Amino acid sequence: MSRNQELFTRALDSIPGGVNSPVRAFGSVGGTPRFIQRANGPYFWDADGKRYIDYIGSWGPMIVGHAHPAVIEAVQRVLGDGFSFGAPTEAEIEIAEEIRKLVPSIEQVRMVSSGTEATMSALRLARGFTRRDRIVKFEGCYHGHADSLLVKAGSGLLTFGNPTSAGVPADTAHHTTVLEYNNVEQLDEAFAAFGDEIAAVIVEPVAGNMNLVRGTTAFLQALRERCTQHGAVLIFDEVMCGFRVALGGAQALYGITPDLTCLGKVIGGGMPAAAFGGRRDIMAQISPLGPVYQAGTLSGNPVAVAAGLATLKLIQAPGFHARLGEQTAKLATALTDAAREAGVTFNAASVGGMFGMYFAAHAPQRFSDIQAAGTPLFNAFFHHMLDAGVYFAPSAFEAGFVSSQHDDAVIDATAHAARAAFAALA
Ligand code: PLP
Repeated sequence: MSRNQELFTRALDSIPGGVNSPVRAFGSVGGTPRFIQRANGPYFWDADGKRYIDYIGSWGPMIVGHAHPAVIEAVQRVLGDGFSFGAPTEAEIEIAEEIRKLVPSIEQVRMVSSGTEATMSALRLARGFTRRDRIVKFEGCYHGHADSLLVKAGSGLLTFGNPTSAGVPADTAHHTTVLEYNNVEQLDEAFAAFGDEIAAVIVEPVAGNMNLVRGTTAFLQALRERCTQHGAVLIFDEVMCGFRVALGGAQALYGITPDLTCLGKVIGGGMPAAAFGGRRDIMAQISPLGPVYQAGTLSGNPVAVAAGLATLKLIQAPGFHARLGEQTAKLATALTDAAREAGVTFNAASVGGMFGMYFAAHAPQRFSDIQAAGTPLFNAFFHHMLDAGVYFAPSAFEAGFVSSQHDDAVIDATAHAARAAFAALA
């Protein structure tokens, strides 16, 4: 038995499913999850000592690669001064100022510890600000596991949303309407039917939780216009795409300004930190200023803030995002070429440092396109690549992530493995 198998067997006894977050369990691809012992740059090593090129990057945070010396140094510098105070620190002002500088639509920002807290708090704030209850989200977008957001579409536009998780009250799901991503017509119908009841529209402007699906400019512009017309709060969930598709996130890439933005992943540099922020008049509704309650024992934790600040400094190096985008595009092209050589129907696409892989002829526009592509070919490809030492997300419904440490040699090694994997699938 391999050490990974031994550890998984042991984990299953004490931890539900053996993991602390479901997608780590290899549930959709099958097989034994790898237990990671250490990581450096673009690589990590499992419990059997096998090295992998890592295209998960902790699901987004590790944009400068694992164990970057500048981030380690920043964390070590603060560790000796204590881990958490429950009182304000200067570093919290610094990270707030840094976030405002990089994402100018954010006039005020509050730190939290996870993306889920960021979206949950942003929704409560939008509801408190508008004094409305209804939320609009889009099929295939994931915004963390707050009750209002674990909801799928009802059978028609005017029906209520249904919970996608046991434990979510139907009464809560009823306040969430789920629409199709990139479907402007449906959005218009929804706003015409109940626009004045909508507190907030929340969207991943570049969606990374149904594989990679790019929001169209027309769709995002329509969201901005309808929200403004109807007094609804537009929330860009940039937990995943923030600081990754461009230094200023998707809102900079598209030139579209949301009212509130949720951030996470990169702003913690691998430590638990996230944030939500935006218009000053909306943020003024939060306690202690206003009536919307929001709080956190570890919010703005000094160690997490140190890792986040160091990461935010590194990504501002001249040309950082241009190079990250080039390397990611190079990977997408190499994968697409390898599939074509083998005669496998496949294409890959990238936006900045995120990429998607589709066993289909064209890049998808919405969740149903991803579902239509199916999973058996992806699952087989995943295992061929894993055996060859390349670790992609263990699900056909997740995006991939490249770091600044994925150099040409790493991309070439991936392409080499992919040629063999596609040949085996053909
Ligand atoms: N929003 C988006 C777009 C995400 O991708 C995620 C997590 O993957 C979240 C929110 C939730 O973040 P967390 O897992 O830190 O709670």
